[in-house]
Amino acid sequence: MDFEKLRDEMVENQLVSRGITDSRVLHVMRKVPRHLFMDESTWYTAYDDLAFPIGEGQTISQPYMVAIMTELLALKGDEAILEIGTGSGYQTAILAELSKDVYTIERIQALSEKAGEVIKKLGYSNVHLKVGDGTLGWPEAAPFARIVITAGTPETPEPLIEQLSEGGIILAPVGDRFSQQLLKAMKRKGKLSKEYHTPCVFVPLVGKYGWKAD
Ligand code: SAH
Repeated sequence: MDFEKLRDEMVENQLVSRGITDSRVLHVMRKVPRHLFMDESTWYTAYDDLAFPIGEGQTISQPYMVAIMTELLALKGDEAILEIGTGSGYQTAILAELSKDVYTIERIQALSEKAGEVIKKLGYSNVHLKVGDGTLGWPEAAPFARIVITAGTPETPEPLIEQLSEGGIILAPVGDRFSQQLLKAMKRKGKLSKEYHTPCVFVPLVGKYGWKAD
């Protein structure tokens, strides 16, 4: 399969056509090999317009969702980012391309390990992985200029707001367990000013400040 060609088509047909315009985001979406973050038996679907199962009941996000979240983060390249929900590591790699450091937390150890291997193989040295409850944040590495939650949450976890820099941006799919809306909030004088963007469907954020485990 010509993965490079499939990526170019994905960028035109799924991203540009839906209004993604940030050239840096489009560039890295053309560059990062999404298929390597998936099981080899599913590579044929890696550039389709879909979220896809990655095991442990979790999913790799739809390319469009990764692109719009990255665009909304408005990265300049010098940021420390906290990502909650490493999953496959695909969004992690996209963020690593466009920022200084990415701190990423995943609650399922097997997924974190798999993601870490791919991240290492691709040569990203600015990614820091941790296994645990991301709703508590990563206080030792705080503050963060950007925080992105890639799982659906009832509200923005309080510890994460505390660990966000003044002027920083936090993105989170906020809603119920089955559907959410993408919230972008900026921290100004300790308070969040909120904007709501696209409707979305993410697997649940499970943790102390998220949903309870089943
Ligand atoms: N951006 C990832 C999305 C993975 S799905 C990708 O494209 O691959 C969301 C991930 O969040 C799942 O792997 C899930 O296990 C993880 N997750 C859920 N609750 C969490 C929590 N409290 N802390 C850390 N990770 C969590």
